[in-house]
Amino acid sequence: LACAACLGRRGGLRAYSALTSNLAPFTNPSEKERNSAVTLVRGEGVHVWDDQGNKYLDGLAGLWSNALGNGNERVIGAAHAQLKKLAYQHTFWNRTTDIAEEYTRRLVDFASHRGVVQTFMSCGGSDANDTNVKLAWYYWNAVGQPSRKTVIARHGAYHGVTITASSMSGLDSIHKGYGPLPLPWVRHVSTPHYWRNGLPGETEEEYSSRLAKELEDLILREGPETIAAFIAEPVMGAGGVIPPPKGYFQKIQPILQKYDILFILDEVITAFGRLGERFGSDFFDIQPDLYTVAKAMSSSYYPLGAALITERVADAIKDQANKFGVFGHGYTYGGHPVACAIGLECLNIYEETSIWDHVKLMTPTFQLTLKQLETHPLVGEVRGEGFMLAIEFVSDKATKAPLGTSVPPATILANECMKNGLLVRSTGNVVVLAPSLVFTMENFQELFSKLKASFDSFDQIVYKELPDLPRE
Ligand code: PLP
Repeated sequence: LACAACLGRRGGLRAYSALTSNLAPFTNPSEKERNSAVTLVRGEGVHVWDDQGNKYLDGLAGLWSNALGNGNERVIGAAHAQLKKLAYQHTFWNRTTDIAEEYTRRLVDFASHRGVVQTFMSCGGSDANDTNVKLAWYYWNAVGQPSRKTVIARHGAYHGVTITASSMSGLDSIHKGYGPLPLPWVRHVSTPHYWRNGLPGETEEEYSSRLAKELEDLILREGPETIAAFIAEPVMGAGGVIPPPKGYFQKIQPILQKYDILFILDEVITAFGRLGERFGSDFFDIQPDLYTVAKAMSSSYYPLGAALITERVADAIKDQANKFGVFGHGYTYGGHPVACAIGLECLNIYEETSIWDHVKLMTPTFQLTLKQLETHPLVGEVRGEGFMLAIEFVSDKATKAPLGTSVPPATILANECMKNGLLVRSTGNVVVLAPSLVFTMENFQELFSKLKASFDSFDQIVYKELPDLPRE
């Protein structure tokens, strides 16, 4: 006879169908159980196919990451060759691999014009951001200022989902339900979004000055001797593609320098060409102390990320680690041989093709064509830089009030895009596009025509639900 507890357990097991065996990231498990997940099975260049045979143009490059598209034979070949040669060894305890050494040397060369002298290898962006916070703490302890522990981040930022990275991220959706998040050593300043948060009559430069003052006021309130670092994305990504207002970083950096605060630049989306330069910091002329990179680093053919370290921090780490006899940090898969082989081949391709120049060339086509959507009565702002773009819906252009459809408007559009064979991302009121860096004119034409068809059906759905919305 089965006991009640066992029956209960079995009942529980039955409740978890095959559809929810994977607790999926940023997904409502109940929705997934209703079988709404789209299952992708194949990719070729910038197109992917689902298990029903439907073909999609990938307007988000996976997660802003699949820079070269799928099926790049050079990258696949490099991975295959490395798997055959040496599938795994770590880089701990003064043991290393030829490929990890070769790749990290190349990466440092690639970033040397940014003052980078060293890398620390991770498996993605979140753990690289964690590493950068640890490096900042290690640095301040090394130079005799152990009271510097607080990190200043920004509302609307996305830095990943480890406990440290989610604490620094400024999005409610990743704090909700987790009790102590964000951790108490993090502070957030305002999202630098001029269109939404600039005051009437205030210029962009004045707005940037106001944000710099907000930062300085916070530093003085907390005490500069308690602040370890400031972290920012060059263009906010998951927060809704928010480029900095004019003069923003030029006004923020002197404040950081004045109070001797380390600057961590989260280039997980922007490094390797997405803005039409090698780094987002090249694009905006930013001089941080630590960089975080991932995503396009391996074109997402393998999990790969890194902290890129400038001389000031590297020197202090070396001295401090020497005192302890070891630098006490490392991931089993950091510097994984296959990841490094893939990263190296991606870097070869990026450099040989100057992929950033292609992005720069195609940016006006992408940005200016879609900017025209601002004439749509329910589009408040189309914004972006390089191959990052957002379309924000409003119900009223003057008040910028959000569009209150029962299903969020960007989700309505994203669903229509999917029916039309285009993958985009919805973040509620904002639709995000971030195509692969190899997108051609033909790919963009396909994107534009699919987006147009999707807007036509979006209009029908939205005006049917809310007929009184403005029509011009
Ligand atoms: N930082 C930024 C700017 C990101 O966009 C992301 C991911 O989208 C991360 C960090 C986290 O990277 P990962 O998902 O590889 O941990």
